[in-house]
Amino acid sequence: MLQSKSNWLPLLLLMAFFTACQQTEKAPEQASGDAVPLQINNPVIRDKFTADPAALVHNDTVYLYTGHDEAAIDGPFYKMNEWLVFSSTNMVDWQEHPVPLKVTDFAWAKADAWASQAIERNGKFYWYVCTEHATVPGKAIGVAVSDRPTGPFKDALGKALVTNDMTTATDIAWDDIDPSVWIDDDGQAYLFWGNTKCYYAKLKESMTELDGEIKVVEGLPNFTEAPWIHKKGDWYYLTYAYQFPEKTAYAMSKSINGPWEFKGILNELAGNCNTNHQAIIEYKGVPYFIYHTGGVQAPNFGGSFRRSVCVDKLFYKEDGTLKRVLMTSEGIQK
Ligand code: CA
Repeated sequence: MLQSKSNWLPLLLLMAFFTACQQTEKAPEQASGDAVPLQINNPVIRDKFTADPAALVHNDTVYLYTGHDEAAIDGPFYKMNEWLVFSSTNMVDWQEHPVPLKVTDFAWAKADAWASQAIERNGKFYWYVCTEHATVPGKAIGVAVSDRPTGPFKDALGKALVTNDMTTATDIAWDDIDPSVWIDDDGQAYLFWGNTKCYYAKLKESMTELDGEIKVVEGLPNFTEAPWIHKKGDWYYLTYAYQFPEKTAYAMSKSINGPWEFKGILNELAGNCNTNHQAIIEYKGVPYFIYHTGGVQAPNFGGSFRRSVCVDKLFYKEDGTLKRVLMTSEGIQK
């Protein structure tokens, strides 16, 4: 051992010398003030754990809708009893509003405030949410309504809009989750949702009733869950959680009814979290990619059941395809 130690000594001295040189070289650059550190703005909500983001723009304000992760540090699964809403006018500073909706606001539901999306129509705000049905085994989709984007919201139907028994492309009990709503240019509204199978159906003008049959979306390889529809120019984009642990992938189409052409991975695995859930909006002319990670560090410790919403910019290529998202700690700067 002694001999071994003495052999390492020259190498250690050499490393110490090079380290000292590197520090000396860096010093002038740091002193010049050229490398001013950016604000660390991700995650955007830090006083509680937020998951499954959805967002909408109304009257020049962005409203962010999330689930609330309340699992303990060693919690073995999701603990989610309510949804949250935040607003911002700069994508950096977010104001939380009073809790707008809880599982207990749906008399027919018994647990799990899972992923959701809200949309405005005719001056009312409709919020589609996933929760566990009390009497029809499995997950279900409900819809809540409010006159304001911040709520409070109330059950718009008094029953579920979609129950597990209405979709049978797979026999799992959690295929009716992750609702995403879209109103097309001609005014026709659509609801997309699913797990392992991606379903979609038309919504009636009332936004509280399906219009016609439920179809399965084809052309989405390795679809896990979390569909999100958006449009840019004449292209429709269907982004979704891909494989497991989840990346976000996407497909494009010239029609909301497809056919969808797979375009690859848009966002990589989200740090320290086995799910990945995106919302895509454009605000003041800038496209944003909103997602969650488990990246909150000590002393709070994030993870797959203790997630936090983050925001980064989304970029389009000239041909309409999307550049891969670069998840950053800095996020959006003022
Ligand atoms: Ca089903």
